[in-house]
Amino acid sequence: MGESMQDRRIWEHPVLSWDRGTPLSISYDGRSVTAYPNETVAAALYAAGVLAFTRSSYLHRPRGPFCMIGKCSQCMMRVDGVPHVRTCILPVEDGMVIESEDPHDSEYPTPARELRVERQELSYDLAIIGAGPAGLSAALAAAPSGMRIAVLDQSPYPGGQLVKQTHKFFGTKESFAGTRGVDIARNLISMLKEHPNVELHTTTQVIGYYPPEGVLIAARAEGVDKYKLMYIRAGRYLVATGAMERTLAFPGNDLPGVMGAGAAQTLMNVFGIKPADDVLIIGAGNVGVIVAYQARQAGINVRAVIDILPKTAAYLVHAAKIRRLRIPIFLEHTIKGAYGDGAVESAVIYQVDRSFRPIEGTEKELKVDGVWMAVGLSPSVELLNKMGARIKFVPELGGYVPYRTKYMETSVRGVYVAGDASGIEEASTAMMEGRIAGLSAAISAGRGTDAMAEERRKAIEWLDLFRESPDYRRIKEGVSKVLIQEAA
Ligand SMILES: Cc1cc2nc3c(=O)[nH]c(=O)nc-3n(C[C@H](O)[C@H](O)[C@H](O)COP(=O)(O)OP(=O)(O)OC[C@H]3O[C@@H](n4cnc5c(N)ncnc54)[C@H](O)[C@@H]3O)c2cc1C
Repeated sequence: MGESMQDRRIWEHPVLSWDRGTPLSISYDGRSVTAYPNETVAAALYAAGVLAFTRSSYLHRPRGPFCMIGKCSQCMMRVDGVPHVRTCILPVEDGMVIESEDPHDSEYPTPARELRVERQELSYDLAIIGAGPAGLSAALAAAPSGMRIAVLDQSPYPGGQLVKQTHKFFGTKESFAGTRGVDIARNLISMLKEHPNVELHTTTQVIGYYPPEGVLIAARAEGVDKYKLMYIRAGRYLVATGAMERTLAFPGNDLPGVMGAGAAQTLMNVFGIKPADDVLIIGAGNVGVIVAYQARQAGINVRAVIDILPKTAAYLVHAAKIRRLRIPIFLEHTIKGAYGDGAVESAVIYQVDRSFRPIEGTEKELKVDGVWMAVGLSPSVELLNKMGARIKFVPELGGYVPYRTKYMETSVRGVYVAGDASGIEEASTAMMEGRIAGLSAAISAGRGTDAMAEERRKAIEWLDLFRESPDYRRIKEGVSKVLIQEAA
């Protein structure tokens, strides 16, 4: 039930290759599973056909990974006796013992190894949370000031969502147009390595902030049984925590095999693992159609891309690419339900009228083992909220977002924001906002130069001009609702 024993790894791909190294062995519920050194525990289990990772608390329904970036709780398992470990961001180690958890377990598990927690007191001029395009660009912009900077990311690999984008980006020279997202991430990281005053900490999750003391707490995992608890005091903080994929309400939306399109991308493009053989993609915007194209590159049969709207919101070039592959796009369609015994085995879609009501007799059943949701993202503002930043619900920006000045400083002095955490947009604007925030942090600390002030002026001008175009007017409107009209 919910498991297939084949190896789901991809060995041939038109764009990507994976340097897998020497195989390791881990154990999952008493069975031996092959893993590779660069994989996370969840990726290795998925490759071995494990789809159900945990169970829901009340109805005891099986649950599989949904986000694959450490933001949801659907991949939590017991690792070497340590309960509730987010396996999607924990790198595998030879000999690890993984057990699926049952919320009805009554006995507290005994960790197989003694848990070692080392406390570190650290201070920096600037602590950046998130090493996606926004966080990396912020660090690069602030680095010439000579400030001591820490960039913290919970993922084992820096680059945020860029590391799974195999397509060439649009935009301008400043936003690396014409370069694949995965290569943009590599460029940013290699440029950062030239600055000895910047430390990049991966597998380091920020888990709290205590305003009275102004202390940020991050847990750096150095294996499942060894953590460094970093108590960080920084002169300035910059939150670039990205976003979380949304889901839709329909029967069976929690079945293993139903996941965010970004999660499917992580499995396919970061780890080279097929999340499914036949898939239905919900959402025909840019993300949905790009992921459909990438699924085909990974050898997956895309049975349909559906969208409830009468028109696709994707760029013509992306939509045309998948039409050329004869992947059907059904507009004015939505999902009725996903069905299966322990994991997705089929989905039913139907047509809707102009009021989004189902049209009787239009149901189509699709034999799929994956349903991927590309229905939007919500900014990850939990940490900003904890830091006391004023936030507001702004539909144009994807949900709750912080108030900010044009210098990307929030309502809390010395706390900056950039990228998807400030509103859902795209990597090019995330990088530009990161640059503005990084420069502003340096300038406000008295560490900026005239050249940095000029660079910031140009970056703000670029962003304003970018958002003048008809496609981005909505974003401009959204930003105007949370813009603090004061100089930083
Ligand atoms: C399929 C797809 C296609 C896309 N195509 C394009 C395109 O063609 N052009 C374009 O410009 N944009 C594109 N985008 C959008 C772009 O990828 C995002 O807008 C961009 O990555 C946002 O950058 P960010 O740095 O704000 O967030 P992210 O890239 O999400 O990075 C956030 C980082 O924060 C880390 N983090 C979060 N919480 C914590 C915590 N508590 N502790 C430590 N670390 C934490 C995460 O691990 C992550 O690495 C695409 C997105 C998708 C999904």
